[in-house]
Amino acid sequence: MATMIIEGDRTKAASGETYEIRNPATGEVVDEVPAGGPADVDRAAQAAAKAFGTWSKLPSNQRREILHKAAQHMLSKVEEIATVLTKEQGKTLLESRLEARRFGENIGWFADLADKIHGQYVRLPDLTTYGLVVRKPIGVCGAIVPWNFPLTLAANKVAPAIAAGNTVVLKPASTTPLSTLLCIEALMEGGLPEGVVNVVIGQATGEAIVEHPLIRKIALTGSTPTGKRVMAKASETLKKVTLELGGSDPCIVLDDADLEGAARAISVGRFFNCGQQCLSTKRLYIQEGVYDSLLEKLVARAAKLKPGNGLDKDSRMGPMHTETQRAEVEAQLKDALDRGAKLIFGGGRPKGPEYEKGWFIEPTIVGEVPDDSRMWKEEVFGPALPVRKIKDLDEGLRLANDSQFGLGSSIWTANMAAAHRAVQELEAGYTWVNSIVIAHDELPFGGTKQSGFGKEHGVEAFLQYTEEKSVVYGGV
Ligand code: NAD
Repeated sequence: MATMIIEGDRTKAASGETYEIRNPATGEVVDEVPAGGPADVDRAAQAAAKAFGTWSKLPSNQRREILHKAAQHMLSKVEEIATVLTKEQGKTLLESRLEARRFGENIGWFADLADKIHGQYVRLPDLTTYGLVVRKPIGVCGAIVPWNFPLTLAANKVAPAIAAGNTVVLKPASTTPLSTLLCIEALMEGGLPEGVVNVVIGQATGEAIVEHPLIRKIALTGSTPTGKRVMAKASETLKKVTLELGGSDPCIVLDDADLEGAARAISVGRFFNCGQQCLSTKRLYIQEGVYDSLLEKLVARAAKLKPGNGLDKDSRMGPMHTETQRAEVEAQLKDALDRGAKLIFGGGRPKGPEYEKGWFIEPTIVGEVPDDSRMWKEEVFGPALPVRKIKDLDEGLRLANDSQFGLGSSIWTANMAAAHRAVQELEAGYTWVNSIVIAHDELPFGGTKQSGFGKEHGVEAFLQYTEEKSVVYGGV
């Protein structure tokens, strides 16, 4: 049985309760884990507060070296971690390997910033006094993570937090804690001190983290409704909050675009991780001159995405993570078809004995989706792509911005003036121009509108795990 990690101890829930983690491809039990609650979060927060006393005071170059060594050790275990990730989450081994590697690389990327925390000297009117702005770590940070990219999204929070000298109480999604535990264990084997990162498991631990008085900041990745609840609850103890929430990223393809490049990027953007991505290509607007030819290319690519158990090397797309998640996507698709949309590819569940016990679904493309369909208005968190023909860029931008979300967006065109206009006008935290939808470690990433606020990745994320303090020296 897997256990939580609190102050370096492998620990069961205070209540003694447990639950099972099941493989989304087979329904088999992968492991049993503790169902933690407020008492466990309290222990974890106390442990993190104690560790903060030493971790935050460590010389910053030592912190950098410890994190690099720990990350290297974790990276030596990528294969083992990736296999567990595939079993608990469903994604293909290739996708899991990429994700496990990114966890270690992310720790390394932020480790390099650990000894580069700069402040400012500010000249004051009276020359016998001078002012400084210094940056300090915040304290204990709560990191709450969803199930679609359990490791990437944990690293996005843990890495900048601990590099800046904070300590962490980390809550993986209830259904995907196992690979996260392996990563944190590997960091500790590689030299990360006890108590710097504590892992609690179980649905009830999320709210307990948000409520806990010792925790000073919450970084949540999750759905928009969860973000609203967390923000309201966090206001009771005035915690700092970073919210990375839902998205419905538009992609505009104009007549002069590189169609091969666009088809490849859109296919990866929509079908990678079985479409369970926040940054993705969730609404596709194609200019009329290339509508048919781009769709033909997209269909050819979708046809090659053989669904299957992620552990099977022939699988190109794993199952959806849960039955509920699949039912939601199927309901959104049915709603569009009932309103008159036209199915272009897929639309069902793959057939065969190997698919009977898992939450498999076909990659799906659907055209002529009416404006009032759920697929345009809501986040589609699965491998189904609604497509619409547009006359020109004006129409594309109007439709793209007609959304409550503002996470990512993309445009494909050879016309730089059109691209610049889209960059200016698309209401989103990220715009890709003729480029694949990937969040780069170097660039700040985060949404606008109801996709949340605050940044992960980049120096900006690192700074959000510090707070400024003004200092005045008088009589100098
Ligand atoms: P979710 O909101 O149901 O859960 C996310 C995490 O929050 C889980 O660990 C969950 O246990 C916890 N949680 C739920 N209610 C809570 C509460 N009241 N207090 C504290 N914690 C609580 O999301 P999910 O279904 O796991 O993930 C899918 C969602 O995440 C999608 O909407 C997706 O777009 C979004 N997402 C966003 C990004 C981004 O960077 N913007 C990245 C990935 C996923």
